[in-house]
Amino acid sequence: MREITSSILQKVRREDPGQAEFHQAVHEFLISVDKIIDDLPHIVYHKVLERLIEPERTVIFRIPWVDDDGILQLNRGYRVQMNSALGPYKGGLRLHPSVDLSIMKFLAFEQTFKNSLTGLQLGGGKGGSNFDPKGKSDGEIMRFCQSFMTELSRHIGADTDIPAGDIGVGSRETGYLFGQYKRLRNEFTGTLTGKSPLWGGSYIRPEATGYGLVYLAAAMLHDADDTLEGKTCLVSGSGNVAQYTVEKLIDMGAKVVTLSDSSGCIHDPDGIDREKLAYVKQLKNVSRGRIAAYTQKYRHATYHVASTAQGFNTLWSFPADCAFPCATQNEISDQDARNLTANKIKLVAEGANMPTTIDGIRILQESGVLFAPAKAANAGGVAVSGLEMAQNSSRLQWTAEKVDQNLQRIMKQIHGTISTYAERYGSKGNLVDGANIAGFLKVANAMIDQGYV
Ligand code: NDP
Repeated sequence: MREITSSILQKVRREDPGQAEFHQAVHEFLISVDKIIDDLPHIVYHKVLERLIEPERTVIFRIPWVDDDGILQLNRGYRVQMNSALGPYKGGLRLHPSVDLSIMKFLAFEQTFKNSLTGLQLGGGKGGSNFDPKGKSDGEIMRFCQSFMTELSRHIGADTDIPAGDIGVGSRETGYLFGQYKRLRNEFTGTLTGKSPLWGGSYIRPEATGYGLVYLAAAMLHDADDTLEGKTCLVSGSGNVAQYTVEKLIDMGAKVVTLSDSSGCIHDPDGIDREKLAYVKQLKNVSRGRIAAYTQKYRHATYHVASTAQGFNTLWSFPADCAFPCATQNEISDQDARNLTANKIKLVAEGANMPTTIDGIRILQESGVLFAPAKAANAGGVAVSGLEMAQNSSRLQWTAEKVDQNLQRIMKQIHGTISTYAERYGSKGNLVDGANIAGFLKVANAMIDQGYV
């Protein structure tokens, strides 16, 4: 690495110790930026990189709530307002026990460049809490969301910062968060996206991340004179992104053979068809059960308990043509990448944020696997959130067809942009470089235009 990029990496490691995920996201980004930084003296002069790694604002707060036994519980809440060069802060809220400042900052950093790639006027942010929604009653979820929003509402707004869902935040949580925001502010505005289409949400928002991921994968295969038709696919996770990835893969004639949650994965050699997917949606979204139950209903499928002891994730060791990690960060290790390439995987497209380690990406790319980084591949969700904001501002609701057409157009445009930038900057076919460079240059130029703020 050149002196300037390596000094930024050292700075972030020195000044933000213990933030491993944030370091990893910055490192992956700097590997790409390093290749072009010599040609960008104005970006160096204006200290754009130094400013990019420092959030514009970070809010950390206490969330007291009362459980069903009448006992006070405490969690920690976060909102990282990373960068507003391109528009109001925009990014989801994550509820998961692993949430800490490092995870919030890595997600907000990634979000800044992802939002840039959508072509919409969206800055980058992320928030959440170490609250664990698993096993909580509806009443507990509501009281937690109300307490979380009571503080968060001071920092967000339709033209300031517009949160959405992420891990642990689906339609139920968004409803409770929105209800409390409306009550506190006495206004019905588009401050949260991912709302129900019954009361201000956009059609296709729940589907958008998964559908967009598959649209992007189809565009990559199209460039290689190939299609998803008949391809065997591995999908991890079984939440929002995974479910709609499977749905669109089925639409495109592919065969999905895996799903997972944090306890383990299922492998169904017969393929997950529409009826089985409907069962998974009911199991995960309504009964709030575990994916292991799938094998009790569909006897040909096998269940594999998640184990860190074996050093790899069983899900990525099944033979397939395409892989779609849709659960969480670092779920494809370097060993998983080796297992995938040993089985001659053709394409890996990231539905989750930063699901592949830096070495994992290198191994896949060196083996000639078509690789789509999360910044580009899962941008469909925030893109339709941007369209939800446009609908809210005009007090109109578009049809599902119109939203889906726009989503397809945006994913095609993202694919075109990242392919063009990769080629223009000497990394033809390397879509990680293409996404990092295209996302970065737009944000960097806007920051320079707006002065030292
Ligand atoms: P959900 O909460 O709906 O689903 C998350 C899924 O991932 C669950 O199956 C969950 O299993 C599993 N999971 C979570 N943490 C872990 C873990 N530590 N190890 C193994 N499995 C885990 O979340 P989403 O589908 O919304 O989000 C999935 C990913 O996609 C995240 O990385 C998110 O940031 C990203 N993303 C989401 C967008 C959206 O629109 N929702 C937009 C862009 C990116 P379990 O039930 O056991 O926790």
